[in-house]
Amino acid sequence: MRVRWLWLALLVVALGLALAVQRGWLELPPRWDPRTPLDVRAPPDWLSGWRLWRLRRDPALCAQVLASSQLDYVSQPDSRLGTDCPLRNVVRVKAGEAALNDSFLATCSLAVSYALFEHHGLQPLAREILGQPVTSVDHFGSFACRRIGGGRRWSRHASANALDVGAFRLADGRSISLSGHWQSAGAEARFLRAVRDAACEHFQGVLGPEYDAAHHDHFHLQVGGFGVCR
Ligand SMILES: [Zn+2]
Repeated sequence: MRVRWLWLALLVVALGLALAVQRGWLELPPRWDPRTPLDVRAPPDWLSGWRLWRLRRDPALCAQVLASSQLDYVSQPDSRLGTDCPLRNVVRVKAGEAALNDSFLATCSLAVSYALFEHHGLQPLAREILGQPVTSVDHFGSFACRRIGGGRRWSRHASANALDVGAFRLADGRSISLSGHWQSAGAEARFLRAVRDAACEHFQGVLGPEYDAAHHDHFHLQVGGFGVCR
């Protein structure tokens, strides 16, 4: 009985705090305030998931967050009506901290995930495992108006919500590729596996060589959809 009252008291306090914050009676430091937009460069914390969830549903908030990221990009107009694969809230990403072999189209949501992945996963892992940063990311493309495996369901590529990445160039000129190094025994293979695991924290679906033969030479990185990480 006493335990039940304790829970009830805690619930009342929690609801009171939530109301006080929502009404503006209580000032929280920005870092602890759930309404503060995501800061792509700040170390991820327990509120990051919530902030990411919010911006994926709010185009204006997503645009604001992307503008404070390290990405160099230009906004693109929405598609006209009547196309099979209409694009909304899309940007053309030209570079991050690392250059790109080519610019790519991405929804704001995908671009934010890429920015988080590069800043908190890819670059720290390259410095830690290979002793130098990645200077260029080689990708195979993002937007493609196609269905999955010739079936009926549209691929996440059809809405610019997926990017295929094949290799990473380092400051010393080396290129670490999935086709060349995934099966090797050295630091390169360790790096690629760590990059896959880091991608799983920042994208909502990651498919690589362990998924199937079609992905032997690239990571498929997507937002939305299935939540698979292999
Ligand atoms: Zn793909």
